[in-house]
Amino acid sequence: MAEMLLAGGKMLSLHCATCKSPLFEYKGKVVCPICGEKTKATTPEKAELRAMPAIGEIEGILLEKLNQLAAELKREGDRRTLAELLGLMKSILEVLEKLKAR
Ligand SMILES: [Zn+2]
Repeated sequence: MAEMLLAGGKMLSLHCATCKSPLFEYKGKVVCPICGEKTKATTPEKAELRAMPAIGEIEGILLEKLNQLAAELKREGDRRTLAELLGLMKSILEVLEKLKAR
């Protein structure tokens, strides 16, 4: 597995259906380090999911933004800007809630 990473392979968030080992993308092909090359490892829908950031990643980005907004909120004195910041924070919290509800 380590050899494949060193050789320029990229670990995917998919697992081999046969041996459950994590699959790698290597030279444009999906490869299982145990079973070898896998051309039909994934369905098209799964391949699309792979292109999207993971839910945990999205959560991380949102929480980071929330922290930035909270810091701005602390410094901000203007009421209109405060209302705007609070609105943004509310939207982020709503999205986070929806992600958790999945
Ligand atoms: Zn395998």
